[in-house]
Amino acid sequence: MLERDGVPTAEDLARFIPSEERLAKGPVAIIECFQAIPCDPCYDWCKRGAIKRFKNPTDLPQIDFERCNGCGLCVIGCPGLAIFIVDGTYSEERARVVLPYEFLPLPEKGEVVEALNREGEAVGEAEVLKAQPTKQKTTLISLLVPQGLAMEVRFFRRRENG
Ligand code: SF4
Ligand code: SF4
Repeated sequence: MLERDGVPTAEDLARFIPSEERLAKGPVAIIECFQAIPCDPCYDWCKRGAIKRFKNPTDLPQIDFERCNGCGLCVIGCPGLAIFIVDGTYSEERARVVLPYEFLPLPEKGEVVEALNREGEAVGEAEVLKAQPTKQKTTLISLLVPQGLAMEVRFFRRRENG
């Protein structure tokens, strides 16, 4: 439960999950922002108008999935590291998950890492497709994960031997 351990419930997540139909069209932002704190830079970072203007800074973000093209700008601009991109169209077997990362050293392209869920539990393997540093010091990490884990994997752990 979010208030107790920071882990959202299925009910918390429901408002930010696009339809299967939208997921099948290509990359899309999954905004996992659940608490009414005064924060709204995701609105300014989105140049496609997919994130609706906040009436109050403490509103939760609202996204129009049809306007979102999964560009990832809001992932860079979110100070809460709360936004992810999911692309279910990468291949039949694997989906691409893009997540914000603020540690060094960066993982290498092609590196196999442990895929972690929102609880921090290992749920399988992922391959690093790309590590894309940005001027904001948040690096976008693209992971390839099994299709069935695209809505579960939200972080990763490097193996000790790299
Ligand atoms: S991924 Fe791009 S288009 Fe989609 S909400 Fe974020 S900034 Fe907007
Ligand atoms: S910038 Fe991030 S933390 Fe702030 S409201 Fe948007 S999604 Fe939530």
